[in-house]
Amino acid sequence: MSCEIEVDGLIKRFGTNTVLNGIDLCLKPGERVAIIGPSGTGKSTLLRCLNWLDRPDEGRIVIGDLQVDAAKAGKSQILALRRRTGFVFQNYALFANKTARENIMEGLTTVRGWPKDKALARADKILSQIGLGDRGDSYPSGMSGGQQQRVGIGRAMALDADLMLFDEPTSALDPEWVGEVLDLIRAIADGRQTMLIVTHEMQFAREIADRIVFMEGGRIVEQGPPDQIFGNPQDDRTRSFLRRVG
Ligand code: ADP
Ligand code: MG
Repeated sequence: MSCEIEVDGLIKRFGTNTVLNGIDLCLKPGERVAIIGPSGTGKSTLLRCLNWLDRPDEGRIVIGDLQVDAAKAGKSQILALRRRTGFVFQNYALFANKTARENIMEGLTTVRGWPKDKALARADKILSQIGLGDRGDSYPSGMSGGQQQRVGIGRAMALDADLMLFDEPTSALDPEWVGEVLDLIRAIADGRQTMLIVTHEMQFAREIADRIVFMEGGRIVEQGPPDQIFGNPQDDRTRSFLRRVG
C-alpha cells in the first residue's frame, strides 16, 4: 500500500545545531506509529515540523495530495498542512481564558473557518466523546490535569485531521490522571486514526502501535513492529536505550 503520509529528507537546524538530520517516514492509511528515544534527540522537533510549528530547513512533507517543500512553502500550503494535522501538546497548551468548549471550537473557527454555530455543535459532540459532556463551560483552571489533556486531545480530534500528532501527552500529568488520557488515546487508535505519538509509556506504545520508530541524534536509528523492537532490537543504541527505560 502506498504512503498516506510521507516525509522525505527532513532537516531542521537551530543555529549550528542540526536537530533533524534527514528524516524519512512513510505512514500507511490508519497506521499508528510510536516514536521513542532519548531526550534531546529531536522527537518533538520532528512532530512540530510536521505541523509547521517549527519550520524545517530542507525536505518535503506529503499528506495525501498535499505536498509541502520546506524550501518553498507558502502561507496557503502551511495553512493546508495545519488543517490536515492535529497536535496534542505535552502541557495541554489550552487557552486559559476560554472554556473547554471554546478551546475545542477555536481551531474550527480559525484554522477551518467554520461558522460559530457549526463549530459549537461539533465541540459539544466532541465533549461527550471525551467524557466531558457536562464540563463544556469549565475553564482549564477548574479542571484536573487529566481533564485538561482530554480537552487538548478533543481540540485535535475536532479537526478530523488526516494525521494526529501526540507529543508525550501524559508526561506532564500526575500519575493518577495518566490512565484516563491513555484510555482516550487508545480509543482514537482503535478507530484507526493515522497517528504519530512520542511517548515514554513503552507498554502503551507496544500495545497500540503498528510500528515503533527509535530515534537518536536527529536520525531514525531503527524501526519495526513492536515485538521486534522491544523483543529483538538490532542496534546497540536501541538496546541500550531500552535497557535504561525498561
Ligand atoms: P526531544 O523531544 O527528543 O527531547 P527536542 O526536539 O525537544 O528533543 O530537541 C532536540 C534538540 O533541539 C535539543 O538539543 C534542543 O535543545 C534543541 N531545540 C529544540 N527547540 C529549540 C529551539 N526552539 N531553539 C533552539 N534549540 C532548540
Ligand atoms: Mg520532546
